[in-house]
Amino acid sequence: MSRVHNFSAGPATLPLSVLEQVQSELLDWRGTGMSVMEMSHRDKPFMSIATEAEADLRELLDVPANYKVLFMQGGATAQFGVIPMNLLRGRDRADFLLTGVWSRKAVMEFRRYGTPHVVAEPADGRYDHVPAADTWSLSDDAAYFHYTPNETIEGVELHDVPEVGTVPLVADFSSSFLSRPIEVERYGLIFAGAQKNLGPAGLTIVIVREDLIGQTHPALPSVFDYKAVADSESMLNTPPCFAWYVSGLVLKWIKAQGGLEAMAARNARKSSLLYDYIDAQSFYRCPVARPDRSWMNVTFTLADAALDTAFLDGAKAAGLPGLKGHRLVGGMRASLYNAMDAAGVQALVDYMREFTRTRG
Ligand code: PLP
Repeated sequence: MSRVHNFSAGPATLPLSVLEQVQSELLDWRGTGMSVMEMSHRDKPFMSIATEAEADLRELLDVPANYKVLFMQGGATAQFGVIPMNLLRGRDRADFLLTGVWSRKAVMEFRRYGTPHVVAEPADGRYDHVPAADTWSLSDDAAYFHYTPNETIEGVELHDVPEVGTVPLVADFSSSFLSRPIEVERYGLIFAGAQKNLGPAGLTIVIVREDLIGQTHPALPSVFDYKAVADSESMLNTPPCFAWYVSGLVLKWIKAQGGLEAMAARNARKSSLLYDYIDAQSFYRCPVARPDRSWMNVTFTLADAALDTAFLDGAKAAGLPGLKGHRLVGGMRASLYNAMDAAGVQALVDYMREFTRTRG
């Protein structure tokens, strides 16, 4: 077996020990004589998997008792519509901070349900920094404030929680969930697709404050009604059982690494390794303003874009796939989610150095 250092933005690499455990339990989960894929979600074995995963998630994030943790489907994209249908509660407006493609997509989808108010966006249309908080124009009738803590495509991250007064804060943590501690009590709602830091695609996590749910848009399908999902303990219909199970194993892995403080230290170290190298030479350049650089998605360009293909081909041959930047922004992107270890980042830096020696 040969495993590569996978820098893909998602679905992304999972911890090897988790994959090995999945492999060892694949045909017979703990003496049940069946795979988790084959189990009834209503029977005890799966119920124990589900309950334990939620308990571990609550423990890791220190989720207060007045928040519901929901295991849903449809990805983060479904949430762009599901959130307004649950949280507008008769209002028409929500505030949005625009920092990149994913916050823009959330605004576009919101237009189907209400009138979005953009509190700020980079003036020149270049999503390479977070607009300064003193330039934000908050509206006074917003049902909530939506932002994207980590813009996966541009590699822009807000390292602090926005100060927005009493309006509920809604955060799309899809690409930075569990990468560091989150002060859950400062949010009205947190959501994330699983497929970057948590587990296989197909599972979407929603953590929502109880008092915000229960007044939904009449056309909302009940599988997307947070209150109905919460009341049924995320078992309103067949959940994504296998993704839920693997995510549970990843949560145990995070706990064994020392929890989210340890993840934060590890992720800060990994991203510094790469940013420090990029900043110390002149062939590669990171376009993102230093205070807003992502720990999870490091974007960079080569001095000569004509060498991009050679760079990517060489990287793939060296066991470093997934580095091509998103088609909307070009260049390169190295995604350093939780399961990427420092050795993988060092291998990338070594490859980049060698590439400049021979081709730069
Ligand atoms: N939001 C962010 C920040 C993302 O990175 C992504 C996917 O990469 C999405 C939303 C969309 O997620 P999904 O594919 O689960 O709908």
